[in-house]
Amino acid sequence: MSKAIGFDTTQVFIAGRWRAPAGGQQLPLVDPSDGQPLAHIARGTAADVDAAVQAAQAALDGPWGACTAAERGRLLMTLSARVLEQADELARLEALDVGKPLKQGCADAVALARYLEFYGGAADKVMGQTIPFANGYTAFSMREPHGVTAHIVPWNYPMQIIGRSVGAALAMGNACVLKPAEEACLTALAFARIAQEAGLPDGALNLVPGLGEEAGAALSAHPDVRHISFTGSVLVGGLIQAAAARNAVPVTLELGGKSPQLVFDDADLDAALPFLVNAGIQNAGQTCSAASRILVQRGLFDAVVARMAERYRALRVAPALADPDVGPLISRRQQEIVQGYLALVRDSGLAIAAQAPLPPDLPAGGCYVAPTLVTGARPGDRIAQEEIFGPVQVVMPFDDEADALRIANGTAFGLVAGVWTRDGSRALRLARKLHCGQVFINNYGAGGGIELPFGGVKHSGHGREKGFEALYGFSVLKTVAIKHD
Ligand code: NAD
Repeated sequence: MSKAIGFDTTQVFIAGRWRAPAGGQQLPLVDPSDGQPLAHIARGTAADVDAAVQAAQAALDGPWGACTAAERGRLLMTLSARVLEQADELARLEALDVGKPLKQGCADAVALARYLEFYGGAADKVMGQTIPFANGYTAFSMREPHGVTAHIVPWNYPMQIIGRSVGAALAMGNACVLKPAEEACLTALAFARIAQEAGLPDGALNLVPGLGEEAGAALSAHPDVRHISFTGSVLVGGLIQAAAARNAVPVTLELGGKSPQLVFDDADLDAALPFLVNAGIQNAGQTCSAASRILVQRGLFDAVVARMAERYRALRVAPALADPDVGPLISRRQQEIVQGYLALVRDSGLAIAAQAPLPPDLPAGGCYVAPTLVTGARPGDRIAQEEIFGPVQVVMPFDDEADALRIANGTAFGLVAGVWTRDGSRALRLARKLHCGQVFINNYGAGGGIELPFGGVKHSGHGREKGFEALYGFSVLKTVAIKHD
């Protein structure tokens, strides 16, 4: 399969025009499957960000702002159809850029199309309320766009994250400035091209690639940005929240997790097993909602470890274009971080229950890490507390429901949890007591669940994306009270 990109990757997209970044500089993209140079992207700076914010404001004051909700919905539907037509090509770009296996890239493209379809369909169905109020008044509420919204996106799921945040923001009539990650930019660039072809008015979507501390920081501090949505690390999430606080604007932060799956001794193990493993190794473990902790009731512990180990040993690791189970990590830096955790596992005397083999013919420059299943850790150990963001899962035993809950809730994070049990009462009790934003009973992830509100508590962040709920986040409630008598 060719590595040709097929379009100019070095430009910013502002006010419907593609041009070189103001500073004239570029950043290199590397193919993580072999470490070879892939392309160059624009190094957008504060000047580009400012131009993009002004273009977005002009769009709100112009044709984009004049669109009806139904017109916005139809545009998103058209965009969705075009994304779907190009799903295979988008998957190929994501494989080259992120090292994502083709099947997963294709699933991401389909999810992007589905977000656009969902939010396109919802655009003209967000309504206010009439409010029973004092005699002589009529009072009602309505939802309006924030204005210019900033979307700072990471490298792990660019298409899905663009879909859920830009899709919902556009549906509500905001104008967006998108800052993709410097490690992975190609599908964001392709998306902006598709949006332009689909007829999105100039300035409704603007794209400024660049460094986080440069373009990202300028965007989050810009005084005319009225909402920021960010997905990424806890550290940068804190910086963004501080910048937003200085301008008193709302933020949605999705900061990852250390999500558990709880396996009780009455669980349907055959049903659970694929989810236990896949939720750890999907996208080489670089998933915010990765199930990086598997908690197993003591009676089943050995059986679960043995059956997970069998699956680990059968995993195929290969370059992304070969569509393996597990591709490379995004970068040398991420590979070194994960290798550091594996060194910690060895130095702490923990057991490696299984590792997928790394084939000898993997490209030498690729950022591969052998998927690794770890046992012997205590719940408070670093390996069981910190987000590794690699294909590493920790399996730990628990005694009873209270013990499981204490371990599950015992990290700084709270994004997602899975519960495997045939006891319906227990499932409902745990659904209430788990500290996180989503609980899955006898499944994990619900196949992506575009309709299901998503977000965290504690260090996993706050605010909700996905589902109808996101439309409330990307809008402002205005109340009107009319005195007529
Ligand atoms: P990051 O938080 O540095 O980057 C995410 C996005 O924020 C990128 O677009 C980046 O350019 C931008 N950014 C960086 N610094 C910024 C700043 N000062 N102001 C504004 N924007 C800024 O994440 P990373 O360094 O790529 O990854 C580090 C760790 O973060 C990973 O190991 C993982 O644990 C976590 N992470 C989580 C998610 C998630 O889905 N929640 C995604 C990516 C990374």
